Amino acid sequence: MAAAVDNIPKEQWAQVVEQKGGPAVYKQIPVQTPGPDEVLVNVKYSGVCHTDLHAMMGDWPIPTKLPLVGGHEGAGVVVAKGSAVSELELGDHVGIKWLNGSCLACTFCMQADEPLCPHALLSGYTVDGSFQQYAIAKAAHVARIPKEVDLEAVAPVLCAGITVYKGLKESGARPGQWVAIVGAGGGLGSMAVQYAKAMGLHVIGIDGGDEKGESVRSLGGSAYVDYTATKDLVADVKAATPDGLGPHAVLLLAVSETPFQQATAYVRSRGAVICIGMPANAYFRAPVFDTVVRMITIKGSYVGNRQDTQEALDFFARGLVKVPYKTVGLSKLQEVYDLMHQGKIVGRYVVDTSK
Ligand code: NAD
Ligand code: ZN
Ligand code: ZN
Repeated sequence: MAAAVDNIPKEQWAQVVEQKGGPAVYKQIPVQTPGPDEVLVNVKYSGVCHTDLHAMMGDWPIPTKLPLVGGHEGAGVVVAKGSAVSELELGDHVGIKWLNGSCLACTFCMQADEPLCPHALLSGYTVDGSFQQYAIAKAAHVARIPKEVDLEAVAPVLCAGITVYKGLKESGARPGQWVAIVGAGGGLGSMAVQYAKAMGLHVIGIDGGDEKGESVRSLGGSAYVDYTATKDLVADVKAATPDGLGPHAVLLLAVSETPFQQATAYVRSRGAVICIGMPANAYFRAPVFDTVVRMITIKGSYVGNRQDTQEALDFFARGLVKVPYKTVGLSKLQEVYDLMHQGKIVGRYVVDTSK
């Protein structure tokens, strides 16, 4: 280790998943030492992403490490660094993202597609993440957070913000056009409404229940379609656009398969459907005929690269995106998962690692 502050403890509080399916157990574990190209971050706050719940439940085809410390929206302070780390100093504010590290040498890394790196390390999945007081990340990949930015409020940007900002860019939607945000009351969705608005787009939010509708409206959405109440979702979404021909882009952020079967029916001809949410065992389904004759683009979008990260943070630092969050102690993580599982969270929960 090249440099470290003096008061790093040997033991720390963490939330540890010991078996597939959970629960997360709040306990003390050792603080690790960073390798030559790594930093040790004193995580102050971490957002709770639905991905953390998917990871604990074993929802996806790739297994996680076990025992696992989840979390990948960790905002904190560099307290130690390895001998090869020259571009970060002790005391710098940084963010631990889903992409904890990548090889920086493969063709994907060289072309700024580092999330596609075959050697990518994933925080809270293949390496321990930010639901602990001291977490390790590759120096090249930690998000650089300006000192004047509030670490608590910025935490959800580190996955949700980056991901939806990238998804909106991938959609090709231009200022003045319309975008449907599916899952608009959730963590990614609330961010997406705000980023879309900041990028000059009109937003149609789709989610379930009045509380999520109020959230969509208050964050700047032009229309809200309640999937639990509508008699004809496709007609309602199209009708929300001024010419009735549907939105130019759809961001699928929901944790349910049904919307992945509906989106091509209401997207505008020549429009783009962007898959971001990853419900367990889900398949995308679209009619070939319509996809062809209406020239529909269907694609996936996966977090963002280092430049997307800094751009997404810059929107936040300029005050263009403000997202509702609630903060609880790290010890209460399992309660957050329970609410998330029931679809009851509006916006994001952030955990404070000191409690
Ligand atoms: P969340 O639980 O906060 O929000 C999900 C929202 O979807 C909820 O508001 C829920 O009510 C809504 N929903 C459920 N069924 C719906 C339906 N039929 N129609 C419309 N809305 C519906 O979850 P989150 O943290 O925002 O994550 C969302 C998804 O995105 C997760 O699957 C997560 O793993 C994934 N994700 C993907 C990436 C990526 O890079 N592609 C990054 C982060 C998260
Ligand atoms: Zn995430
Ligand atoms: Zn690589």
